[in-house]
Amino acid sequence: MSQKNINTDETLKGANLIVAYSLEIDCPYCNAELDLSDHDKNRCFSGPIFNNRSDDLVGETVNCPDCEKEFIIENVGF
Ligand SMILES: [Zn+2]
Repeated sequence: MSQKNINTDETLKGANLIVAYSLEIDCPYCNAELDLSDHDKNRCFSGPIFNNRSDDLVGETVNCPDCEKEFIIENVGF
């Protein structure tokens, strides 16, 4: 973490911080490489990640869009 700049130095420019992430998982049936951030309705996958509750995702089910089979998330790694 960087220190917050409490100095109101007007020479400092501001910039937007953009969060870019992917949630990669391979379907254990057809080996399709999925990015769950593309299938993240209601932040059901990213919500726990960004709230330090990534373990909550273990046991959650994913529906593979390629082979339409359902599988569970066994482990979450960074
Ligand atoms: Zn699949």
